[in-house]
Parts: sequence; structure tokens; C-alpha cells
Amino acid sequence: MNEPEPKPSDQHVVEQKARHWLSERGVTENDIAELVYFLQKPYHPELDMEVCLHNVDRVLAKREVQNAILTGIQLDVLAEKGNLEEPLLDILRKDEGLYGVDEIIALSIINIYGSIGFTNYGYIDKLKPGILKKLNDKSTGECHTFLDDIVGAIAAAASSRLAHSEANSE
Ligand code: MG
Repeated sequence: MNEPEPKPSDQHVVEQKARHWLSERGVTENDIAELVYFLQKPYHPELDMEVCLHNVDRVLAKREVQNAILTGIQLDVLAEKGNLEEPLLDILRKDEGLYGVDEIIALSIINIYGSIGFTNYGYIDKLKPGILKKLNDKSTGECHTFLDDIVGAIAAAASSRLAHSEANSE
């Protein structure tokens, strides 16, 4: 008997799509691992990039995270193409300060690994190292209103995961 056709909402299809969309929007898993390294290096002097990458990979395997990625990137892309109604189009293109729904979507990612995620997220959101600086460059004509928060949140969640697993192994 033939295998049934995978449905668009099947877990592995969703996961593949989410990872693919991230890279299509210019964000590699390595970029996110570098943020984790930046956040965790002061506390773990022996830390290497492999461990950071592994933790990013585990966070990306979560359905909540994939849902946030798909939703956020879809809205960014529609805004970029001008395919949203006003006033949302203008708000997203300007990344207006009073619009906080991008941060709310990011919270659904940060929540997964508990409260240290919040501190990590706040910290890199303020400093905007690495890929976050690139995503916040408004001169490119690209719209990353959702993606910058999502990437920061994935890095924060991966950092929390790393911190918890280190604590458990001690
Ligand atoms: Mg944003």
C-alpha cells in the first residue's frame, strides 16, 4: 500500500517550511547560534558554537516556534509586497513603536523554557548584536517587523535551554 500524501499541516512539513522560510528571509541557524553564544559565553567560558547550534536546532523543532515563525514571516512578506490593508500595512512597514503584536508573538517562543528567557530576550533586543542589527536596518526596503523579535526570541529560548541543561548536568 502507498504511503498517504503528507498534509500541509503535518508536523514534519511544517517544521521543514519554518526552517526554509527563515533561511529565505536571510537568517541562518548559525546566525541565531551566534546570538546564543553572545548571551551565554560570559557564564560558560568553555562554551563552543556546536552546543549553541544544537540548542537552536532543538528550539526550532518545537511546533509553537514553527507556528510563530510562519505567522510572523507571512505578515512581514505581505507587508513588503504591499498586500495588507491599511492601517496595518503602514504600521508594519514603519515598525511603529506602539504596535506590540510582534513582541507578543515572540513571547510565545520565550515562554517555552521559563523565565530566564525574558531577561535574555530583553537584553539582546536592546543591544541588537549580529543578525538583529541587520534585520533592523530600515534602509533595505525589506520588512522584518516580526522576524527580528522572533529571531531574538529563538536565541533567548535556546540560551535558557542551554542554561537549564548545563544546570542539570552539574
Ligand atoms: Mg519588531
